[in-house]
Amino acid sequence: MIESQTDITIVGGGPVGLYLAGILLQRGINCRVLEKKSSIDLHSKSLGIHPVSLELFDEAGIVDPFLENGLKIENGIAFWNREKVGEITFDRCPPPYRFILSIPQWTTEQILEKWIHALDPDSLLREAEVTSLIEKNDRVELTYHHQNEEHRIVSKYVVGCDGKNSFIRGAIQIPFEGGPYPDTYIMGDFSDNTSFGTDAAVYLHEEGLIECFPLPNGHRRWVAKTDDPIETPEKEVLVELISHRLGHSLDRCENYMMSSFGVQHLLASRLYSGRVLLAGDAAHVVSPIGGQGMNLGWIGAYHCAQALTDLVSSGEKAENRLEKYSNEHRKIAKQVAKRAELNMHLGRKKSSGLFYKMGVSLLIKTGLSHLLAKIFTMRGLGRWVI
Ligand SMILES: Cc1cc2nc3c(=O)[nH]c(=O)nc-3n(C[C@H](O)[C@H](O)[C@H](O)COP(=O)(O)OP(=O)(O)OC[C@H]3O[C@@H](n4cnc5c(N)ncnc54)[C@H](O)[C@@H]3O)c2cc1C
Repeated sequence: MIESQTDITIVGGGPVGLYLAGILLQRGINCRVLEKKSSIDLHSKSLGIHPVSLELFDEAGIVDPFLENGLKIENGIAFWNREKVGEITFDRCPPPYRFILSIPQWTTEQILEKWIHALDPDSLLREAEVTSLIEKNDRVELTYHHQNEEHRIVSKYVVGCDGKNSFIRGAIQIPFEGGPYPDTYIMGDFSDNTSFGTDAAVYLHEEGLIECFPLPNGHRRWVAKTDDPIETPEKEVLVELISHRLGHSLDRCENYMMSSFGVQHLLASRLYSGRVLLAGDAAHVVSPIGGQGMNLGWIGAYHCAQALTDLVSSGEKAENRLEKYSNEHRKIAKQVAKRAELNMHLGRKKSSGLFYKMGVSLLIKTGLSHLLAKIFTMRGLGRWVI
């Protein structure tokens, strides 16, 4: 057994674990990220980075590579069936980030990985799968497999950033509250043949929602609500849905990625136990409709880093500090889940189409559109520690 020691071990090198490692290293705290995958997954999940996260990246001094590689979505167009009913602009959001940045998740992870490598070349260990956790009075011991050998790492604190099916959450026996929604979707990235440019478009269609978002490099992501789960997401199915509902053909477009997903709302009943904390999807899963899960994870990681810094550097009483992290971030996670639910509700099939269309038009044409812009850009959730 090969042994090592560090202040903080982060299990999972996804977007949340990598960001958390970066801000801890910047504060002079030793940390190690153990990631079981050998390389970044090139299947894009998230595409939207919200202003609140850009502010966090700005504070960490890493916003520039995101802005250089991403595309700014400053406007969203709303349709009822095929008829345009209004636009939502983000121009009244606080400066300087009056847009949602569109960037594939793998590019985000590449930027974060490069950043933490520059801060400490040994901070990220790939092909390292954590298989056991033992908590002692003053430390946590993790066992992981790496290059056919078993290793043990001893840390003051451990953070589980290991995703929805978190091994760490299971090991500390914290259950997820919540469950699945009935909604299911199919999604694909194509070359962009629309005239929307950098605008997003949302079609509230009586047969089910369709959304499309610009991606960098002249691509566009299409998401359509389906009646039933789709096991094998085929390009033809999405192309046919879009053609049928919108009369728009993607037949000649290049297809880069296909996926299908169901949605859930899951929240860990608490975000720590003893010296082990949870962050990111290990702590909460919200519907990808509205694109806020990863952003919520970064807000939590920011607060988690603040708590860990206080504990490691000042020896503040752990129980109080971690309880605060858990309570406050769970409140934010609940608000985000409600917003995601609103997004999904807007996109469900409507029996009373005419009234619904009038309601949506009114919402968009009156001052309430600013409220929608606030909801879509994750404004007003609060950063309680700063
Ligand atoms: C279709 C789709 C679209 C989405 N769009 C958006 C969007 O636009 N905006 C947004 O904010 N969010 C979006 N999300 C959500 C977003 O993808 C997730 O919230 C985000 O990936 C969570 O990051 P994470 O680092 O917490 O977890 P993950 O990305 O799941 O990373 C966890 C990491 O832990 C590693 N790991 C797991 N177990 C172990 C172990 N035992 N040992 C070592 N390593 C381990 C895994 O290999 C993985 O790399 C979307 C999700 C989906 C499905």
